[in-house]
Amino acid sequence: MKNIQAIRGMNDLLPEQSPLWQYVEAEIADVLASYGYNEIRTPILEQTELFKRSIGEVTDIVEKEMYTFDDRNGDSLTLRPEGTASTVRAAEQAGILSAGRGRGSIPQRLWYCGPMFRHEKPQKGRLRQFHQFGIEAFGMPGAEVDAEVILVSNAIWQVLGVSEAVTLELNSIGSSEDRAKFGKDLYDYLVGHKESLDEDSQRRLDSNPLRILDSKDEGTQKILEGAPKLVDYINEEDQIHFAKVREVLDRAGVSYRINPSLVRGLDYYGKTVFEWVTDKLGSQGTVCAGGRYDGLVAQLGGDATPGVGFGLGIERLVLLLETLELVPDWVYQQVDLYVCAEAQYVADAMILAEQLRSELALRVRVHANGGGMKSQTKAAQKTNAPLVVFMQERDMVDGKLMIRSYDGELVEGQDQLNVTVDGLIDFLTEGQ
Ligand code: ATP
Ligand code: MG
Repeated sequence: MKNIQAIRGMNDLLPEQSPLWQYVEAEIADVLASYGYNEIRTPILEQTELFKRSIGEVTDIVEKEMYTFDDRNGDSLTLRPEGTASTVRAAEQAGILSAGRGRGSIPQRLWYCGPMFRHEKPQKGRLRQFHQFGIEAFGMPGAEVDAEVILVSNAIWQVLGVSEAVTLELNSIGSSEDRAKFGKDLYDYLVGHKESLDEDSQRRLDSNPLRILDSKDEGTQKILEGAPKLVDYINEEDQIHFAKVREVLDRAGVSYRINPSLVRGLDYYGKTVFEWVTDKLGSQGTVCAGGRYDGLVAQLGGDATPGVGFGLGIERLVLLLETLELVPDWVYQQVDLYVCAEAQYVADAMILAEQLRSELALRVRVHANGGGMKSQTKAAQKTNAPLVVFMQERDMVDGKLMIRSYDGELVEGQDQLNVTVDGLIDFLTEGQ
């Protein structure tokens, strides 16, 4: 019988990779806490209508990427392709986006983390089940908050050490009225060049001409050079808003590149949009993307509530850390201490390990599957434990253990010591 395999584009996270993910997730959660954001968790399944209404019918996601099916009641459900719509739905449903109500009214600063699903062509950095961290700030219309959201992402790059590898691209796409006017003029211009546009862009001409701006097709980009420019359509208020965002970023020392053709693939954005991109991951170069979406909450049936946020792809961030070899060594240390023991000392080793865990809060693994010291040592080294304790007759006859370091000296000039159990505890206590 053939073994059953995972679904293409949906990866398992194996034990050798999970420490890196735990590290990344913990660092990000710390940053989010430091900015006063609270976690929200929502179901992975939602009514299909939620995404159609928020992301937009004429978008890549809704047109061709969603996992949608009828459940046993005949309701159309969709595995969430992104986190913003669900967050808005949940916050609205809980009544925490209303002004002036007691329990957690606006403003709200929220974050989420979890799997998202899109039926795309799987490749490096592009999966069908992938994972995002996202933040959403509700109830604050000011440009400073757009800047704050960007500063949060910037702080994440700093703690993980990837700042040098990512650049911020920034644009303002104005109001929906501005975009409608621009879209009309863009249409009038492009319709004259229809035959020379790529296939996707031809299709979008009637449905969503703005999306043609970020077409990757060279021929289309050439034609766009002569097209009307969105910047010329942005109303004064939104221009001032955008200038203020840039001012705060300037004062915070965050550099950026204005990218006039950045429009983002989701319909709900307006005013500020941004992406953090890297050239280290090939064509899957966007690590984090976001912007302001003041119309979304109302669009989903709530009171008009401004919002701004981002989504960050964990797989791409993890790939970046690995590619640039920026993962600290300790991340791969599965335990702090590994105990190798000859068969007659395994029980003693278990008891010793109990003591080390409870008294010194160490992570300890005991070798309990037999084998000689040589093979046990190999197993110990596989865990990258910085310290290994040996319990073998040779030393135990004198009531001593041997403690050994494989990545440096234990004490000056020595990488191994023979000590009693008490001596071991003293040694480890001093090291803490
Ligand atoms: P792309 O242009 O790469 O398709 P997107 O604009 O569709 O990205 P968003 O919806 O803005 O992406 O999602 C935010 C982030 O989530 C992306 O910048 C990326 O890091 C990550 N992401 C999106 N889709 C995938 C995917 N299929 N696999 C892995 N990560 C993804
Ligand atoms: Mg996409």
